[in-house]
Amino acid sequence: MFRSPEVIVNQWRRFRLTSPRAISRLLAATLFPPRCCLCGFEGASLDLDLCDFCHADLPWTDSGGAENAALRYEPPVDQLIRELKYQGVISNARVLGVLLAQRVRERAAPLPGLLVPVPLHPARLRERGFNQAAAIARHASRMLEIPVAPRAVRRVRDTPSQTTLDVSQRHQNVRGAFAVSGERPLCRLLNAGHVAIVDDVMTTGSTLQELREVLLSAGVSRVDLWAVARVS
Ligand SMILES: [Zn+2]
Repeated sequence: MFRSPEVIVNQWRRFRLTSPRAISRLLAATLFPPRCCLCGFEGASLDLDLCDFCHADLPWTDSGGAENAALRYEPPVDQLIRELKYQGVISNARVLGVLLAQRVRERAAPLPGLLVPVPLHPARLRERGFNQAAAIARHASRMLEIPVAPRAVRRVRDTPSQTTLDVSQRHQNVRGAFAVSGERPLCRLLNAGHVAIVDDVMTTGSTLQELREVLLSAGVSRVDLWAVARVS
């Protein structure tokens, strides 16, 4: 879709060219301009695959602080997440990561020093081919300029899907499911001190809480919980 030189110049001005990474991001976005993934119109900014109208219509939450779910798990957000997870539409990770970063930038202070995506068990990772939480975290990391540690923690137990379980069963199901991956990842976590766990969907929060407990027990001083969407 054609973008006028004026639009491009304005968007370049709005960009904070603080690092080589930010400059390469801007060049890539200029060469391959974002298109709204919901209606096909021009993206609202160089980082966002949504137009202004679809962006404003999203089911935003009003939560903030250490527990951030950017959106409610409702149309069209649920569809974007299901396409990512079950149909392998990996490009949806970009729009979901950018939306998470936008909400966090508005609400969370202070920001963490490291992002830790919720890990998949190796068997589940082989089956799906990618970890959707890690894909989302990578885009949020790029936007917020906070490093991501996708292998700092691992899933030591393959837990059955949470979808058919009630609240107490979900807590039981994830107990003992996570561990820090080793000495070097532990050093990285402790050096960061304040980290945020990133996931796609928060339902009861039992998975995120369990992982938070593991990190706090390992000595991390503050652990925030970030999810793209919350089931309300
Ligand atoms: Zn649109």
